[in-house]
Amino acid sequence: MSPASLTVRTFTSNTGAFARLLSIRAQTSVSRAPRTLSTTRKMSSIPSTMKAVVVDKTGGPEVLRYTEDQPVPKPQDSEVLVKNKYGGINYIDTYFRTGLYPAASWPLIIGQEAVGTVVAAGSSNKYDLKEGDEVVWMKQGSYAEYTAIPAERVIKIPTGLKDEDVLGSYLMGMTVLSLVKEAYEVKKGDTILVHAAAGGVGLLMCQILKDIGATVIGTASTKEKCDRALEHGATHMINYKDKTDWVTEVKKIVPEGVDCVYDSVGKTTWEGSLEAVKRKGSVIYFGNASGPVPPMNISVLAKKNTKIMRATLMQYVVTREELEHYTNLLFGYLKDGKLKVNIHNIYDLKDAQQAHKDLEGRLTSGKLLLKIS
Ligand code: NDP
Repeated sequence: MSPASLTVRTFTSNTGAFARLLSIRAQTSVSRAPRTLSTTRKMSSIPSTMKAVVVDKTGGPEVLRYTEDQPVPKPQDSEVLVKNKYGGINYIDTYFRTGLYPAASWPLIIGQEAVGTVVAAGSSNKYDLKEGDEVVWMKQGSYAEYTAIPAERVIKIPTGLKDEDVLGSYLMGMTVLSLVKEAYEVKKGDTILVHAAAGGVGLLMCQILKDIGATVIGTASTKEKCDRALEHGATHMINYKDKTDWVTEVKKIVPEGVDCVYDSVGKTTWEGSLEAVKRKGSVIYFGNASGPVPPMNISVLAKKNTKIMRATLMQYVVTREELEHYTNLLFGYLKDGKLKVNIHNIYDLKDAQQAHKDLEGRLTSGKLLLKIS
């Protein structure tokens, strides 16, 4: 079985931004060597301070403050300390930065996932995690060189999988899997509408829906993005910036409406999604890229007996069993070579501001990573 392929591409219609992204990419180097059982790593001693991006107050990308003086956290007995190699960037990071999602405490280190090496393991961690283990984890605080994480949120990376493929698909891939398995269980032959189909989540969703045997109608804002999604399994693409009446375009393809809409754009698409779905269909809202869905009167759902849901991955992976279930499903896709992981760009940790500008500026297609150590 071949490991999933990695595509590193910059993607923008803005020439200046394109040149800037190319230059950032040129500064980053990606280790492509596959992991082997014999991989060993010399543990350096743990310093008292570390590199991190700290948010002191809500705001635009400018509130992402890079520092090299952040105290290294001390793990509790049930935690492990991980030296992060790459951190994953997700749209949710912008929600915490802007205050759309409230933070538990301030100052805040954002970022929900990373790959790295265990450098200290608390005595009561239950998952046999040891110094030197190469792991992926999902929780808050990955824009930092070191993170202390409850051991139950940490997964060893299987032999043969590359860091970039694992992190390039981890949170996003599990999101897609939980949405297509639980939020609405997609069946072979279903017709599914996916907004922002060329985004990080979108490109993974197109592939997984195609694998299930669904017809995928995607939306995106440029021709390049539409082409990209078509290359990744979308059956039809609609440029919803050109065709503002995109619901009519959907109905031209499937007059009765789609079985399900996966809507992560929110404010600008939520009403159209309700129109595009068929009688007794489902609309799954799971993101706010254009802003949150406003309060709605549920009586509008009676028009077609529409089911709606606001889904989040975190409520599908609450227990260790659930986390392992979705992790194993995802790793299966990667090991079978069934998922092409697209890394849009790898930014230096100190360039986190630029990464957020590119993501919110709709200049990206695929996963954004931070190179940390
Ligand atoms: P994307 O790479 O998909 O980037 C967001 C995309 O949304 C943009 O590229 C853009 O695509 C589209 N978009 C539409 N309107 C706007 C707007 N006004 N401003 C910015 N972007 C806009 O991001 P991610 O893959 O990281 O996340 C995709 C979505 O999935 C997000 O909403 C995120 O919150 C959600 N998500 C939810 C999870 C959950 O558990 N509920 C977990 C993971 C992600 P285009 O230019 O083609 O319109």
